[in-house]
Amino acid sequence: MISVQEAVNIIQSNLAKPEIIEVSFKEAVGKVLAEPISADRDFPPFDRVMMDGIAINYDRYNSGQSMFNVEATQLAGAPRLTLRQADNCLEVMTGAMLPKGVDTVIRYEDVTIVGNKAVVNDIEIFKGQNIHNQGQDIEKDHIIIKPSTLITPAEIGVITTVGKEKVKVYKPLKFAIISTGDELVPVEDEPKEYQIRQSNSHVFKSSLDQIGMDAQVFHIVDDKETLKGRIKDILEEFDALILSGGVSKGKSDFVPEVLEELGVTKHFHRVAQRPGKPFWFGTVKNKSVFALPGNPVSTFLCFNKYILPWLRKSYRLEEKIQLAQLEEDFSFKPDLTYFLQVKVNNEKGMLKATPVKGQGSGDLANLVLADGFIELPPDKYDFKAGELFPLIPYRRLD
Ligand code: AMP
Ligand code: MG
Repeated sequence: MISVQEAVNIIQSNLAKPEIIEVSFKEAVGKVLAEPISADRDFPPFDRVMMDGIAINYDRYNSGQSMFNVEATQLAGAPRLTLRQADNCLEVMTGAMLPKGVDTVIRYEDVTIVGNKAVVNDIEIFKGQNIHNQGQDIEKDHIIIKPSTLITPAEIGVITTVGKEKVKVYKPLKFAIISTGDELVPVEDEPKEYQIRQSNSHVFKSSLDQIGMDAQVFHIVDDKETLKGRIKDILEEFDALILSGGVSKGKSDFVPEVLEELGVTKHFHRVAQRPGKPFWFGTVKNKSVFALPGNPVSTFLCFNKYILPWLRKSYRLEEKIQLAQLEEDFSFKPDLTYFLQVKVNNEKGMLKATPVKGQGSGDLANLVLADGFIELPPDKYDFKAGELFPLIPYRRLD
């Protein structure tokens, strides 16, 4: 049996290598950028008027002139005008090019316009005010977004501004989600006394859908030959497999032997942890195969602790480790890492974790009461209120 850290290391040294593809910016949100996005021109691309008002030559104002004849109006989206007479002004609109011959913009609120004469109110004026200078934010060819950034609506704003109709992104992996177990029935069925509804596959599928992965669900009965035949075909077609159930020591737990018989190299079976001890991991032709124990909480923990970070790392996304402070004393005797379900409160930036008492690893209902797991190391029995532990959150904590 290996430790949690060893399991993490082994999994993360077998990263997936997602292909790079080009997609329309319309399909890019949620994907990971695989190229830098640079400025196709200066930002802003010209000296831009920031307020509706008038534009003047500051030297005139500074030498005592406060009344200016309006020569013309510079609109946004119109070519640049030139001030003909230095003691006149132009009306200018937000987003317009700053006309030639002027250097200062005074907003309408600070002038009185009568007929075609504008009189500057008695306020302080600074040379160059209300102008957003060309290249002030970013100069042409500078990188605005680095590769390996998750594309959100904020990135879409930049991608479209620089005219990238198509962007290079990492292709979603094709996951096969396979549940095993003769006791499982589909969601829409009424289970008999000895049956339960299938839930693990839907947890994986919805998590993977949320992060833009391509996932297909399969169910296979607890029959060795059937398992072998179906998994053989699935291995051909998919980039990664997540199985649940059938990895323990029961009479119908055929998954590990079937995978090995199909040529999947076993990297480990069993991790010194609770929940999720019977976790099995292997690879074949750069495809990772995660065979998780069927208990819904074990499965959920393993998915969040091992598979999501592996996926983020495969997509070169940064991984942040969060720590949370235990709110109550807690003890756990066995020499295993214990993943304790906790409710998390964010108190002025400090994450406070209160244990949610469960009935062991199968207690599905507790998942909705908790926000994550904290990881309690195996070399201690007593964990004191106030101590900090790594947090595996499965919700947004705000
Ligand atoms: P197993 O790992 O196959 O021994 O299953 C352990 C427990 O998890 C059993 O009580 C199963 O009924 C339950 N279980 C296994 N797979 C699923 C699943 N896909 N959805 C919900 N419960 C499951
Ligand atoms: Mg089973």
